[in-house]
Amino acid sequence: MPIPGLAEHGVGFKTLPEAIWLRNRVLAQLDTASETEDAEERRTALGFVFVGAGFAGIEAIGELEDFARAALATYPPGIANDMRWVMVEATDRILPELDRALATYAADRLRERGIQIRTDTRLVSIEDGTVRLSDGSSIAAATVVWTAGVRPSPLASASGLPVDDRGRVRVDRTLRVEGIDGLWAAGDVAAVPDPHAPSGYSPPTAQHALRQAKTLAENIRGFPAWFLHRTYHLIYMPTLGRKVRIALDWTVALLFPRDIAQLGSLEHPRDSFRRSAGS
Ligand SMILES: Cc1cc2nc3c(=O)[nH]c(=O)nc-3n(C[C@H](O)[C@H](O)[C@H](O)COP(=O)(O)OP(=O)(O)OC[C@H]3O[C@@H](n4cnc5c(N)ncnc54)[C@H](O)[C@@H]3O)c2cc1C
Repeated sequence: MPIPGLAEHGVGFKTLPEAIWLRNRVLAQLDTASETEDAEERRTALGFVFVGAGFAGIEAIGELEDFARAALATYPPGIANDMRWVMVEATDRILPELDRALATYAADRLRERGIQIRTDTRLVSIEDGTVRLSDGSSIAAATVVWTAGVRPSPLASASGLPVDDRGRVRVDRTLRVEGIDGLWAAGDVAAVPDPHAPSGYSPPTAQHALRQAKTLAENIRGFPAWFLHRTYHLIYMPTLGRKVRIALDWTVALLFPRDIAQLGSLEHPRDSFRRSAGS
């Protein structure tokens, strides 16, 4: 992200501390705006620019604008006119994870609320409360939130595994890492083929990560694999009687939850009696 001023003045929106900071920031900026007599300072304080219109960016700007509008009721009337919320997006649309009609619907709803959406536009620099954009325009804004360029863990690329252009581990539809037997990946770090997704890959959401985790668990340890594993062990058990006992034990374990009774005292069976007998 070699964008002048971004590291010094921007903030991300990935962690809880960042989210809490932004919530407080909105209130602090409303305080600043309501206390100053300087019109330019007020406009800058109430300018909020978000860069990157994926899920996280759209959710963030939508929620914070809503929050700010609710908070405005407790501030002097008039400052609402100076408040601006701007979403800057480098591509020609918002929410690339969704189909175009749904994304257009979301953009229309945001615009109705007064949120500006600048597509085909890039952030160029941030300096002294001024945000410069690639279309030559500039916005007076003290708060810039970076929600673009969500990257998977750098461990994926560093590990030497096959990765796509976004640094995600390439997997096939069974979630097996391409070209490597016995290695699997799921979640944000994996490029999971999805014929229903506009991009051809599952979007990086918790909903997909959870479903992939279940599928992956089934693919690694499905019933046939479990059955083979158990049967193999059973074959090597000595005596028929022991084989039958173990098979019955495993069958009962299939039907009921695990036994979680603590059996550590087995090694000292007389301790309790000794305590009672007072020795
Ligand atoms: C602001 C925001 C809002 C979101 N909102 C939604 C939403 O509304 N709905 C939704 O479905 N999804 C949402 N998501 C996306 C969702 O959080 C992710 O898709 C999901 O968490 C991916 O799960 P994961 O297990 O693949 O990765 P993660 O949840 O990122 O888990 C990976 C874990 O691995 C750890 N880790 C990384 N490197 C190492 C290492 N070298 N050694 C050990 N541990 C390591 C990390 O610390 C992390 O705990 C949102 C994301 C963000 C940032």
